[in-house]
Parts: sequence; C-alpha cells; structure tokens
Amino acid sequence: MALGANLNAMAARVRACWRRTGRALFSPFLAALAIAAHADNPEGIAVGVFAFQGERAAISDWSPVIEHLNRELPGHRFHLRNFDADGLREAIAAQSVDLVITNPGYYVTLETLFGLSRIATLQSSHAARSGQALGSVVLARADRVELAKLRDLAGRRVAAVAPDAFGGYLIAAREMLREGVDPESAVRETRFLGLPMTHIIEAVRSGEVDAGIVRACLPEQMARDGLIRMDEFRVLSPRRVEGFDCALSSSLYPDWPIAVTRHLDPALAKSVARVLLSMPEGPGRASWSVPLDYQPVLDLYRDLRVGPYAYLRDITPEGLARRFWPWLLGLLALLAAWIVHTVRVEHLVHQRTRELNDSLAAREVAECRARDNQEKMEHLSRLSILGELSGRLAHEINQPLTSIATYANSLLRREAAGTLTPDALREACGEIANEAERASGVVRRIRHFARKRAAVREPVDLFSLAEEASRLMAGMLVSCPRIVIEWEGGSDRDVLCDGLQIQQVLLNLIKNAIDAARGLPDERQGVRVRLAQVDNRFVVQVVDRGAGLDPAQEERLFEPFFTTKPDGLGLGLPICKSIIEAHGGRLWAEANEDGIGMCFFFQLPCHESSA
Ligand code: ADP
Repeated sequence: MALGANLNAMAARVRACWRRTGRALFSPFLAALAIAAHADNPEGIAVGVFAFQGERAAISDWSPVIEHLNRELPGHRFHLRNFDADGLREAIAAQSVDLVITNPGYYVTLETLFGLSRIATLQSSHAARSGQALGSVVLARADRVELAKLRDLAGRRVAAVAPDAFGGYLIAAREMLREGVDPESAVRETRFLGLPMTHIIEAVRSGEVDAGIVRACLPEQMARDGLIRMDEFRVLSPRRVEGFDCALSSSLYPDWPIAVTRHLDPALAKSVARVLLSMPEGPGRASWSVPLDYQPVLDLYRDLRVGPYAYLRDITPEGLARRFWPWLLGLLALLAAWIVHTVRVEHLVHQRTRELNDSLAAREVAECRARDNQEKMEHLSRLSILGELSGRLAHEINQPLTSIATYANSLLRREAAGTLTPDALREACGEIANEAERASGVVRRIRHFARKRAAVREPVDLFSLAEEASRLMAGMLVSCPRIVIEWEGGSDRDVLCDGLQIQQVLLNLIKNAIDAARGLPDERQGVRVRLAQVDNRFVVQVVDRGAGLDPAQEERLFEPFFTTKPDGLGLGLPICKSIIEAHGGRLWAEANEDGIGMCFFFQLPCHESSA
C-alpha cells in the first residue's frame, strides 16, 4: 500500500517535470511509472461518470459495466466515481479518474480541454442505430393549440435543465435556431430548473411555463411509471426517425461515449475497449459499439457558439471591441490625430493660399505703380531733355521763321517798287512754304517725342531709329557736332522694341557724349554710333572722345541722381538702363581702350524673325 502511494506521488512529480522539461525525454519512463502506480494502486482504475440523474441512478446504470470490466480484467480493480459536470472536469484536471463516461456534449468539451480519447460508444436499447440515440423533445400542454412549432416559442416562457445540458437544452436550442428563433434572445424567458428533469414536465403541466425541453424518451419513461399521461402534452415540431420509438422534436445524436484520459496506459485502454465491445447485451443493460463520430455534436456547439466554440461569440462588434479595446483606442487616437493633422494642414494651406493671393495682388499693384512711375519718369526725362535743349530749340524754329520773314519782306519791298514778277513771287512763296514745313517738322518731332504714352512692342528698323535720333538731336542743337552712324554687321535690322523708348536711350547717350566733349578741341567733338547684329542680339555702341570719368565716378554711373552737371538730374542713365533691361537687354559703359572718352554699350535680343 505504501509502495503504491509513493509511486503515485512520484508519478505526479514526474508529470510536472514532464510538462516543464519535455515529453519526449520522459515519456517511456513516465508510462512505466503510471502503469505501475495504477496496477498496484489500492484505489485501482477510477471510472468517472457524469451522474446527471443522481448517484443512485448512476450506480444502477453503470455498475454492470464496472462488474464486467473487473470480471474480464482481473489484474485491475475498476470502481465507479460519480460527478456532476464541474466535479468531473476537476477530477480529470487533477488526474484522479482514468476512464470517463459522459454525455456527448460534455465529451466534446472535455476532449478539447484535456485530450480525452473515446474508445467505445454506448448502444442504447431504444435506438436502432447507435449514431442516432440522443435527442430532445419540446412539450407544451395539449390545450395550447397555438404552440405547434418550435418557432411558436418566440416571446414565450420556456423551461430547460441548464444552459449546458445537452439533451435538456442544447439540442432543442439548435433546432429553434434552425427554425429562426434565437433561443437566447427571441424567447421571453428561459427558466433553468436543473435536475431531475421531471420538474420541467411538471412546470409545463401547471402552466408555470409555456413549453419545456427534456431529453427524448423521458416523457415515455414517466408515462410508464404512471407519473404523466402522454395525451396531456403536445410535441412541438414533432419528428419521426425510423427505429427511434420516442417523441422527438430534434435530430438525433450519438449516444454517450466512454473515453480514456491521457495518462492511462495505452495497453490497458486497448484491453478495456476490447472487453467493452464484447460486453453482451441484455435487458436493461448497456452494450457498447465502436467509438462513433462526434462531429455532429461539435457542429451543434459551433452553431450555438458554446463550449469549445464559445470564442466565436467574441467575433461580434461588441466582442471584438471588448477584446481589442486597447488597439481600438490606439487606432481611434491615431485617427483623431490624423483628422486633426489633416484639418490643420487644410487650414494652413488655406491661410498660405490667401497670403499668397494677397501678396500676388500687392505685387501686381506695386508693379502697376512701378510701371506707372517708370512711364512718368521716362516722360519727365524726355521733358528734361527738351527743357535742356529748349533754348537751342527756339533758335532752330527761329531760323525758318527768320527765313519766312525775310522772303515775305522781300516780296513786300518788290511789290512797292513795282518790280515783283510772277516768277519771283512763285520762288519766294515756295521758299516760305519750305521753311514753314521745316519749322513744323521740328515741332512735330518734339511733340511726338514729348507725348505721354504706354509702352508698345513692334519691329523697328534699328538703323532708322538711330538716324531719327541723330536728326532730332541735330535739330535741337544750335551747333551739333558730327554724329556718324555705322551699321557694322548682320542682315536684319528689325528689333522688336518700343521704338520711342530705344530712341530715348539713343538720344540720352548721344546727348551725354556731346556734353562730355563740350569745350574740348574740335577733333575731340563728334559722336560715333556703331550698330551691329551679332549672333542672336543687336549691339549698339555710342562712342565719344570726351573727358571720360574717373573710376570712382564710373562705379556710380547708373545710380539715380548721380550727375556731374550743374543743371543735370542724374536720371537719364538709370532710366536708360531700366528701359534696356525691360527689353531683355543690358546697358553698360567702358572707357575707350586708348583712355580717351567713353563707350556706352547696349544689347537687345533678336526676336524670332530677326534671329
Ligand atoms: P545727367 O545727364 O542729368 O547728369 P545722366 O544719368 O544721363 O544724368 O548722367 C549721369 C552722369 O554720368 C553725368 O552727369 C555724367 O557725369 C556721366 N556721364 C554720362 N555719360 C557720359 C559720357 N559719355 N562721358 C562722361 N561722363 C558721362
């Protein structure tokens, strides 16, 4: 006895070690210990039974099986241990039972939890086939004619054994589900009255509930015992299965299995299976068949999402939310951050766009104002040139006027003397007309030059432009030095420009060149304007032999208001520069190579047809 207890304790320790260290290493050793422990264990082989109808019923039902085993396998001592559902589970977990007899529902659950293996299935006397042994019947009182189908249970009160009772609830619940009535939510109330199941039948009979779910064949057994009469009740959604003689409201499932726990010696398990399969059938005595397929039971659990499939309940929006709430929270936080970010970016984009539009509008206004100012400056500059030259202008107009007066007086004198001939009259009048035309030409050119106007772009002959500027200059000066205009290269003379503006530049440069040589000997007077088309640009040089500038002055040449002249404004060159740059060109100045006088250059791009 002491040896057996020690072996048991040792086996338990080794099992724990096995879990920690690895099954492979200890498996043979453990098996040997386990066999030895059970063989010599004074308590023998424990057969755990789910005693759903109480201990007495269990003993009466299963004692023949135990006796048969003890008789056929005399080297072992089999004994019965009765449990309720929870007790059986705990006993298997504690490895205090070796064989398990339970209903199919609990079996599939225990198989999943503890790896039980069925070795035989009970063959019921009331079922023709062992795969079709267990079912449920749903009863209502016979006078409740409105209750005919399981679907009529929607909104009714139903009694059953327990939420996990196989025949006493789950089988019928699945059928209700199949008929479209959710047993959990569609019925008004489900009362679980526990065992014995006779309470359920009584509750139906007394009207305490509208219908009751019980294991199939129980009503017939109660009727046989004289407890009820079958005609007192009606069966909901009744079915007939050939060979099954009880009232039925559901499909049928395999009968109870007997299973071995993992720790039982496989050789002993095999012997037990062999002995059970050879157990003779007898009146009121169970017999066993080969182990059946319990997949229909698993399907039932899956449909109802209970037992091993209870986890499926979590795959609902609420279940998932319960399970993954930290992730969801994180996701929500990310989403919120993203929304905030997007809104902020959107807001910034709007703000920047508005700022950009404002600044564009402001720039446009500024450019408009600058253009306006430029035009005013150019106009002023032209007027300033005219102002500077006005004394000489008066002289220029005075010359033809003097000629006109001279011819007119000569005509008067001759007429008074009576010597006026028609030929002389014609000649004088012709000269008067010529001189008048000369004066009006000067006035026309000046008016054209001085008028206020907006900039234009058109092809203009550069050479003609320079000649016109020279003519204007000569017309405006009392004694104008020689202005030589030379075309030095290129076949195209048309430049796309505002002719008047370029003429203004030429006039300014020519006037400055003449001013630079004022008071110097005759050979230093005279201006040379050289024009050329080089590659894709026009190059203009205005060359003088004047006084030139020292390097410090040369640096400030294009600064506004830089002037060395007592009556100068210092605006001519800055305006010329801005005109040339507005045409896409460049204006600059260099001292002549021999150190005498200056050369002012400007370039203008050739437009397509002139390139
Ligand atoms: P302004 O003629 O009213 O002085 P400009 O801007 O036309 O204004 O000229 C600025 C200054 O540049 C002149 O005062 C002069 O000192 C200098 N300058 C311009 N052209 C020449 C030149 N060809 N030779 C020497 N100095 C020049």
